[in-house]
Amino acid sequence: MRFIDEYRDSELARGLVEHIHRRSKRSLRLMEFCGGHTVTIFRYGLRQLLPPTLQMLSGPGCPVCVTANADLDKIIALARTPGVILATFGDLLKVPGSTSSLQQARAEGGDVRIVYSTLDALLLARENPDRAVVFAGIGFETTAPTVAASVLQAKKEGIDNYKVISVHKTTPPVLRALVGSGEVRVDGLICPGHVSAIIGSRPYAFLPREYGIGCAVAGFEPVDILQAVAMLVDQLEAGEPRVDIAYRRGVRPEGNTIALGMIEEVFAPGPADWRGIGVIPDSGLRLRDERFDAERAFAIEPGPTREPAGCICGDILRAVKTPLDCRLFRRVCTPEYPVGPCMVSSEGTCATYYHYGQDGPEAEEPCGQPARGAADE
Ligand code: SF4
Repeated sequence: MRFIDEYRDSELARGLVEHIHRRSKRSLRLMEFCGGHTVTIFRYGLRQLLPPTLQMLSGPGCPVCVTANADLDKIIALARTPGVILATFGDLLKVPGSTSSLQQARAEGGDVRIVYSTLDALLLARENPDRAVVFAGIGFETTAPTVAASVLQAKKEGIDNYKVISVHKTTPPVLRALVGSGEVRVDGLICPGHVSAIIGSRPYAFLPREYGIGCAVAGFEPVDILQAVAMLVDQLEAGEPRVDIAYRRGVRPEGNTIALGMIEEVFAPGPADWRGIGVIPDSGLRLRDERFDAERAFAIEPGPTREPAGCICGDILRAVKTPLDCRLFRRVCTPEYPVGPCMVSSEGTCATYYHYGQDGPEAEEPCGQPARGAADE
């Protein structure tokens, strides 16, 4: 299939791996921001193909995972509000908040509907004029334009019962917070492909300029990732960090100006609460028009927040720990019985380690007993 087969071509991949081995001399720490990249890296065993000079880290690029419990609790509280239809993508259903989940709220009578696009949510609003339809707006710059488009359409049609709870997050501010904290050393960043298709590659320019960090925007096939790694090694070995694009078929330096215009029209920057990282100014998107803002339309009182006992998702999202450091991994926490969001989302680091393993799917528990999750698979 065009645009897929050539990016899974083993000869191309072998050539890139050989190039990386030839060029890599220094010890470098490369982070992939995006959970989709983490999945590709593990699914194709790319870590094992790289020289020992390169250490790969997984970053906070899973939108469901970085959603703080305080925000999840608000969404769950909305699902329990009489008269509300809570519309959401399916990946949010099982994510545990402080004391409940959308799945539980639905089992207890909340009207939670799975939708496949924001236009489905808008259709629900048209079909239920006496109910408020609240769409759970979660995601990075990739999903924000579709939510913006639905708000603009609702405004055009005068659909005032359509609301959005926006816990959208933007990528450059969290990258600045992560590298600026000094908690984790990153020499090179594999920048997210889908996010960059919207924002372009220019917003990463501060990373080489202010922090000496190399950047390469990557697509989601193994050759895309290896090409990005090769670009990073070339930049960093030459002492010339910059922003490269290894995903020219999807990303332009200026991004998608139409999508960016819609985001700008519908949302204003505001603070956002990131799991494990905290509140980062101007890293969220707030609705400009209060008629469509669920947080302003309803008095939401979700109660005190709690983190799942023993879960270290926050540390994993900051790349200071891995799922293998979590004592609940595989023993208690599995995709079937997830304790934290990094195990629920298909792009969560814990789910990726679970499915593909650090050293392969047959990873065993330290005591040598087959892991419970592995046996269940
Ligand atoms: S394995 Fe489960 S409990 Fe541990 S950090 Fe991951 S999601 Fe949290």
